[in-house]
Amino acid sequence: MIVVMKVGTSEAEIEKVTQELSGWGLSPEKIVGKHKVVIGLVGETAALDPLRIQELSPAIEHVLSVEKPFKRVSLEYRQGEPTDIKVPTPNGTVTIGRNRPIVVVAGPCSVENEEMIIETALRVKSAGASFLRGGAYKPRTSPYAFQGHGESALELLAAARDASGLGIITEVMDSPDIAKIAEVADVLQVGARNMQNFSLLKKIGAQNKPVLLKRGMSATIEEWLMAAEYILAAGNPNVILCERGIRGFDRQYARNTLDLSVLPVLRSLTHLPVMIDPSHGTGRSEYVPAMAMASIAAGTDSLMIEVHPNPAKALSDGPQSLTPDHFDRLMEELSVIGKAVGRWEHPAMAIA
Ligand code: PEP
Ligand code: MN
Repeated sequence: MIVVMKVGTSEAEIEKVTQELSGWGLSPEKIVGKHKVVIGLVGETAALDPLRIQELSPAIEHVLSVEKPFKRVSLEYRQGEPTDIKVPTPNGTVTIGRNRPIVVVAGPCSVENEEMIIETALRVKSAGASFLRGGAYKPRTSPYAFQGHGESALELLAAARDASGLGIITEVMDSPDIAKIAEVADVLQVGARNMQNFSLLKKIGAQNKPVLLKRGMSATIEEWLMAAEYILAAGNPNVILCERGIRGFDRQYARNTLDLSVLPVLRSLTHLPVMIDPSHGTGRSEYVPAMAMASIAAGTDSLMIEVHPNPAKALSDGPQSLTPDHFDRLMEELSVIGKAVGRWEHPAMAIA
């Protein structure tokens, strides 16, 4: 349930309403928007009578009940105002949000060694990326496949951050690793396979680095938003939703079905920003440019692209990785669409 206060309501009046609602055993949350203050009420609100709340103060404009199972992530919760996620990086603060320049995240699937990660970082930075991605802990289908270098790869990511000034995005697979990953990473990634690992979501919601939440490969949009709700409910409002392809019936030519319909759908449901990952979405480097361009045209806020200095030798996801030269060309192509939709800043992309 959402209590919308009239424009210009005094702090004292808002406090009075909040106190009253707390007295009813609720946990009101004050959300300050551009124009209005709203008070969010989540939990056992089904039995509450909106009229009774309305009577608490003449400063209450109206009381709205959110019928959807997701509350904090819903568009209504922020009165339709999109969330901007501001991430401090050595190169400046990068803002990921709906009306912001498109933010590009690029880098290898896995951090393999110092030379490759630094080379990739410098190349993707000069092409206009704002973040370097790279897995230290890798969720692999086979226990015999390369599992990532773990802690030592975190040191290499730190070196790449120092060398390039790029922000770092890397995956957390297990809650005990959160603290040490957060020392290096500017954004923590929850992978598709962990999207419904609720204990991980609660722990990651209880720390304050922004979170990139990938869509589970068989997750409905509602399940995905409910996973994001876990993170917000635990106290972290900074979640980016990343579509990375879902399982369709046909995997013969493309690894997954990249669901670009999430762009307009999520716009109508949530205030959270969206990222599209055409690399995992297609599984093939030659399909990545078309889907990246389509994502921008369809309104994505950010993109994740896998780039490797030598894809043929990559320890994971080589077939879907672009070379740095290919990435340079892609960024040129993307800039055409990005400019057409008024969301491209170059070279200092999205630096506030
Ligand atoms: C990745 O980003 O390398 C990854 C493993 O992604 P996903 O969780 O989407 O498969
Ligand atoms: Mn990968």
